[in-house]
Amino acid sequence: MRYISTRGQAPALDFEGVLLAGLAADGGLYVPESWPQFSAAEWRAMRGLSYAEVAFRVIRPFVGGCIPDADLQRMIGEAYATFGHSAVVPLRQTGPNDWLLELFHGPTLAFKDVALQLLGRLFDWALQRAGRRATIVGATSGDTGSAAIEGCRGRANLDIFIMFPQGRVSEVQRRQMTTVADANVHAIALAGTFDDAQAMVKALFNDAPFRDRVGLTAVNSINWARVMAQIVYYVTAALSLGGPDRAPAFCVPTGNFGDIFAGYAAARMGLPVAKLIVATNRNDILARFFSGGAYRKDGVTATISPSMDIQIASNFERLLFDMHGRDGGEVRRLMAELDTAGGFSVSPNALAETQHLFAAGRADEAATRAMLKTAFMQGNGIAIDPHTAVGMAVAASQRAGRAVAADIPLVTLATAAPAKFPDAVQAATGQHPALPPRLADLFDRPERQTPLANDYKTVRDFIDQHRVTA
Ligand SMILES: *Cc1c(COP(=O)(O)O)cnc(C)c1O
Repeated sequence: MRYISTRGQAPALDFEGVLLAGLAADGGLYVPESWPQFSAAEWRAMRGLSYAEVAFRVIRPFVGGCIPDADLQRMIGEAYATFGHSAVVPLRQTGPNDWLLELFHGPTLAFKDVALQLLGRLFDWALQRAGRRATIVGATSGDTGSAAIEGCRGRANLDIFIMFPQGRVSEVQRRQMTTVADANVHAIALAGTFDDAQAMVKALFNDAPFRDRVGLTAVNSINWARVMAQIVYYVTAALSLGGPDRAPAFCVPTGNFGDIFAGYAAARMGLPVAKLIVATNRNDILARFFSGGAYRKDGVTATISPSMDIQIASNFERLLFDMHGRDGGEVRRLMAELDTAGGFSVSPNALAETQHLFAAGRADEAATRAMLKTAFMQGNGIAIDPHTAVGMAVAASQRAGRAVAADIPLVTLATAAPAKFPDAVQAATGQHPALPPRLADLFDRPERQTPLANDYKTVRDFIDQHRVTA
């Protein structure tokens, strides 16, 4: 399997290449040169297999022989053994033909674990084989940092430095990053905002001597391997609900468009999918795009679903590429227009084409809070988290507007556990969601973090001095 860039000017790479590269050299994102195809019989043959077994079958063609089967199987098995539910990602029924796909049973209680538990292992494997080490640096506003740390802790060939804005992440989020004892994990409390932390990461990547010296790399959401790992749960959910002989719809709480793009990939691989519904909070650039074809920046405001507070959606470029006949020149033109003019529009034809598969809706803060409460009452006291509430609110309005017929199973992705966002959940339901047993002592564990000034040299020197050199 070869991978090509959405901007058409970077060399094609194999799986190992895109895994370690992250972003393409031309600023684009890597996508498979062609979509692996599965027949109805091949999907049917996956019914009843374990999550890890389905994952192996779905992921194998994307790896394209880069990793021996036995190694791939072992890493997949280990990654999903860290989940606290025997089904890994169980479905829970919430209505006559409505379901929640619980993606939050991993170590950090958000769906990002599904990809990052595997990614850390794949990275370590590839570095071992190449005989080198890498340094992962990331900025986080909360969820990604802890999931990346959990995926990389204790790996022999990796150091990971995660910067979070000091005093601006929740206590649960901070403790998930600072209570990890492994020597290759470094949590940096940066004196600044999330934007400062992100600018710091950019500056480190732009420092070529440093970048080469430490083998700098990222595990952010544009890494193809993350999308790849997320395809699997669309498959297991569809098969549980009668697929491929019945096509479910999926409603996906969306920020950077990585999660829902994995659903699109599943559909392109031949999995029958009735609809993919993009659910946004009031930061609704994607919902506006799917209703009118204009993709236009509009600032970003803080909500109770912070992991979806985005100005632009980085993975959307992958869909744009397919929408324009995989013409990298056209994607370059649109992305330049986004930079210079703050937005662009696609043709009515291109929009109509995507609307066969995609629909979209938004839920504002009032609708999100109302759904937190409604779901709690209807779920007999089982709470959901605010991101999932955005998804359920949009799913309900799609049902009410008959965009999804009553006989189509509608699966909303539950992207985080309620205990990860206890304040918003308590405010809406009156009940404080408890941490699961494996995290019950989170508030008693010793913390280890380094406060650093928002100063380039300070941060760079800290990384140089604390990474393991071998
Ligand atoms: C990251 C995240 C999202 C958004 O996912 P994307 O892949 O960026 O669209 C939604 N919910 C939660 C809880 C998240 O952590």
